[in-house]
Amino acid sequence: MAVTLRARAVLPMHGPPLDGGWVRIKGGRVVAVGRRRAAGPTIDLGDVLLLPGLVNPHTHLEFSKIPKPVPPQPPGGLAGWIPAAVAARRHAARDETAQAILSGLQESAAAGVTLLGEIATADPALSYPTHGVPRLRVFRECLGLGERRIEQSLASLRRSLDRLPASSAGISPHAPYSVKASLAATLVKLAAKQGLPVVVHLAESREEQDLIEQGTGAFRDLLESIGAWPSPPPQLLSAADWVSLACRAPRAAFVHASFLDRPTFDRLVRHRDRAAVIVCPRTALLISGRIAPVRELLAAGIHVALGTDGRGSAPDLSPLREAQALIDRGLASPQEALKMMTTSAAWAIGCERIAGRIACGRPADLVVLRPAEHSTDTYADALAPSTQVVMTLRSGRPIHPA
Ligand SMILES: [Zn+2]
Repeated sequence: MAVTLRARAVLPMHGPPLDGGWVRIKGGRVVAVGRRRAAGPTIDLGDVLLLPGLVNPHTHLEFSKIPKPVPPQPPGGLAGWIPAAVAARRHAARDETAQAILSGLQESAAAGVTLLGEIATADPALSYPTHGVPRLRVFRECLGLGERRIEQSLASLRRSLDRLPASSAGISPHAPYSVKASLAATLVKLAAKQGLPVVVHLAESREEQDLIEQGTGAFRDLLESIGAWPSPPPQLLSAADWVSLACRAPRAAFVHASFLDRPTFDRLVRHRDRAAVIVCPRTALLISGRIAPVRELLAAGIHVALGTDGRGSAPDLSPLREAQALIDRGLASPQEALKMMTTSAAWAIGCERIAGRIACGRPADLVVLRPAEHSTDTYADALAPSTQVVMTLRSGRPIHPA
């Protein structure tokens, strides 16, 4: 049976807000969208806004039990953050990965999220629930600079991909400082062959550039200290070459991009039909003190999406809070920020056919927001700090409140 949900406004995200709008749901899918009079059984949700479920395109849910962001040790820089975060995760969630992931998914549902792009370091099929929580596209992380590590990484990736349906799988070559050029090529070839999207952490820190350009610096010290720097030194790809390579996959998202140089920016522009940049403002500020050049990327026609990253570097898993960080700094309008966590975020992880907008035939993945403010800008009302997430629906059923 069909049911119609009516709201103060519906924000379909592929057209203007519909004041007095409604969405009709049948069999878990959207079957009609309109405004004013609706036929059939109608639930009036009252003074709320109805939006597509938010998409958080970049998380590390394994970190979800870390109570607050881990500061880099020593202060300043990614090379100091990585060992501190790994130690905190070990301490907070030893043998509790599945529990941390579930907790992160529940927190995401409460934040209005219905789809996540998740980075997994262990076999995803073992720890990710599939019902009663947001949908997932799980990117299996791979890294390796020495031959033994590379072999292990590839074997475990193949096991993971055998168990995951292609519609919810992806590959994440970790970062330019942790993936040898030959492994990068193998991973992207595999992604292209299987039609999978890729996600790469890119240009996150200055130290990354030092290592790639000179083979020295804080990352070299870190990698040597953990026995991960082989002899002879591995061939690494520049950020620009990563963009060209990864864009051989059907979709490639580059996370952070805080320290983009001109050649890398130009490659992103050239490949903008496949490339997206995922910005995680609060993480970028904590770790490197710098957010990607969002205005320039948007002006160049590049898809920019908004993610939270994991709880090792962000205080919560709320895309709405990330958007406020971006808006406060004048880097996005409320309308742009909402696009970054709906349509652009879905596109960044290759899920644009099922998520990111309210349209007929799509799963009824929706979020109901109650704004305290009533201005002429509905997008601004949706993103005001006082706005509350009332309900999150997946296929028309509430996943929050549970
Ligand atoms: Zn990340």
